[in-house]
Amino acid sequence: MLIVRTGVFHVNVPGVEQGGIEAWFALDKAELLGKDADDYDKVSDTLDVWFDSGTTHTSVLKEHPDLTFPADMYLEGSDQHRGWFHSSLLASVAMHGCAPYREVLTQTADGYRRIRNTSRFLLANLGDFDPARHLMAPADMLPLDRWAVHQAVQAQAKITSAYDKYQFHLVTQELQKFCSTDMGSLFLDITKDRQYTMQADSVGRRSAQTAAYHILQAMVRWMYPVLSFTAEEIYQHLPGDKEESVLFTQWYDGLFGLDADSVISADDWAQVFAVREAVSKQLEQVRAEGKIGAALSAELDIYYSETAGVSALSTLGDELRFVFITSAVRLHDLADKPDTAVEVMEHVFVDVKASVHEKCVRCWHHRADVGVSADHPELCGRCVGNVSGEGETRAYA
Ligand SMILES: [Zn+2]
Repeated sequence: MLIVRTGVFHVNVPGVEQGGIEAWFALDKAELLGKDADDYDKVSDTLDVWFDSGTTHTSVLKEHPDLTFPADMYLEGSDQHRGWFHSSLLASVAMHGCAPYREVLTQTADGYRRIRNTSRFLLANLGDFDPARHLMAPADMLPLDRWAVHQAVQAQAKITSAYDKYQFHLVTQELQKFCSTDMGSLFLDITKDRQYTMQADSVGRRSAQTAAYHILQAMVRWMYPVLSFTAEEIYQHLPGDKEESVLFTQWYDGLFGLDADSVISADDWAQVFAVREAVSKQLEQVRAEGKIGAALSAELDIYYSETAGVSALSTLGDELRFVFITSAVRLHDLADKPDTAVEVMEHVFVDVKASVHEKCVRCWHHRADVGVSADHPELCGRCVGNVSGEGETRAYA
């Protein structure tokens, strides 16, 4: 017998079975407790949200003639280890001296989908990429793309070490973390602009594709001992020369870390991304207040002191707007901070403003130079260059 979590209330309370939990408020405590009622106070506070579902072992399992206590299995998502599984265990041990289930089962579909979707995005970015012609040397790649491959080196070291110790749960954890954080939240999110707006054969685009290619080559190998069919499916769609099957390959040795003398070190990127995360919470807040729409309709003024440890921001210059995915980012000394700026990290303040400029219909950035070209009145300056000129160049991101 298997039980899944539902919002069932304790049926032993008179009236609740018919009227739902609202019946509690009209209940006379004597109905429930009889002559002992005077020894108890009835409270109307809301109990912990997990208590209703966490006591279904009593209100459902023990009441329903077709069910047995304890249940053979409780089935829910893995977030319920600290939720329903936990509250059910606590309440049942307190009430009955034993667990309410013989075993619990979580599904791993979300984690699988994250890995599959990340692979799908990386593959989609390689649509016109031929490694024989387009693969760039590490030294020629943009620093952000070098960082992404560097992160893959770190992940590969952890994953191969976990495989050596047969710690498969650490393999899947690391794989998921790499997909959701390094790829989904950072590399893929930030390079989307380059992929979609720059000229097909530009350095900015080929650099991001080179990183995506190396990363995916490594990822399919991390995956195939535990996700063989998905790994094989992805491998067969990878561009370029390859083995007949991913199963015939060894660990990918084409990854490369950041040089010690990199223009932006891994620690520098960690600083920049920490500010990005802090700022994104403030962007979300301002958006919830209705002052901006999408993040690209916003401009940021960031005020920080030397002691904040975020000096790497200034290295990126105007390209910070691509990292933060806003239409402009301006950096200032903390001493110039206006009252409207909000502290998002220690010694780092941000002022989020709605851009007053027109939105470019092509890249969606709001820029003062939208409409400078009579031939392309709806485009910003860099898009005009990308559509009919030399094309833009990027130094970092
Ligand atoms: Zn544009």
